[in-house]
Amino acid sequence: MKNVVQVKNIKIGGGAPVSVQSMTNTPTSDAAATLAQVRALSAAGCDIVRVAVTNAAEADACAALIKESPAPLVADIQFDYRLAVRCADIGFNKIRFNPGNIGSEKNVAELVSACKANGVPIRVGVNGGSLEKDILNEFGGATAEALVKSALRHAAILEKSGFYNTVLSVKSSSVKTTIAANRLLDKACDYPLHIGVTESGAFDEGLAKSAVGIGALLLDGIGDTVRVSLSGDPVKEVAAATSILRAADLGGDYCEIVSCPTCSRCKYDMMSVLQAVRAETAGIKKRLKIAVMGCAVNGPGEARDADIGVAGGEGRAAVFKNGKVLFTTDFDGVIPALKKLIAEFTD
Ligand code: SF4
Repeated sequence: MKNVVQVKNIKIGGGAPVSVQSMTNTPTSDAAATLAQVRALSAAGCDIVRVAVTNAAEADACAALIKESPAPLVADIQFDYRLAVRCADIGFNKIRFNPGNIGSEKNVAELVSACKANGVPIRVGVNGGSLEKDILNEFGGATAEALVKSALRHAAILEKSGFYNTVLSVKSSSVKTTIAANRLLDKACDYPLHIGVTESGAFDEGLAKSAVGIGALLLDGIGDTVRVSLSGDPVKEVAAATSILRAADLGGDYCEIVSCPTCSRCKYDMMSVLQAVRAETAGIKKRLKIAVMGCAVNGPGEARDADIGVAGGEGRAAVFKNGKVLFTTDFDGVIPALKKLIAEFTD
């Protein structure tokens, strides 16, 4: 089992539920806009929010944000260890920083000392696009092995200063390389792993790449926290991450809806029924399975396997509860009947 890293109220590793992360894309100096986005992310189910901090003025603008934030905050810092020290001191809950860029051991010791004093973990985040030159030369490119070597090298720098409160990530825009690198890294260390496919693209492409990359790793039992990286509104990343976790059966208790794609055999407005069921069950935090099926071909089979089900027929639909037909109704009666049954299950 991986080490546990505590990020305010969220545990990463040690068998804790896989947490969901995202990152703001408002100007960090605009504290009000950034706080509004942090709140929107948290309301959507984001456990940990990352904020890019590029200078001291931005760090100082975050002091109020840290006080008001409903979620733990991570400062994402490139190169400037003094900025990382400042962020640890002003109350960020985690720092994303690669210590190989610091320079002297004295500087590393200063960062480690600030993080230890404030109980702040560090994520070493290695991306294929920013690997060290010597590693790129050694491996002939940003291979899985190259990513792992870089991550372990950064971690070793922290270890030399007695710091182990570390999370590692190795990301590539290639799904295959991301999966291979994480499988190697998982075997090579006990640090919890932050997983994701980087720069995966706009929503459709990014969702597919993330589902394959993150999903394959989660099914291997690899990954302690996830970030789905999509161009655009980060709130969509949270919904995507939640869907991936649920598909891997790691999404906690929720209402699973099974529905058929429909075909010409479907004789009722199944899509309206499906939308109504989705809306009615969106916030349910309970294991419940509902089947919404177009006709009697696969409908009864799926509906029988569910807590609640409906299958369309000729002029009427059959409503199922706990695998048995409860009654049939005309099509207008389907949505009210399902809402009543959902209420019974969730009361
Ligand atoms: S359940 Fe019926 S309507 Fe739905 S796809 Fe299968 S055959 Fe078509």
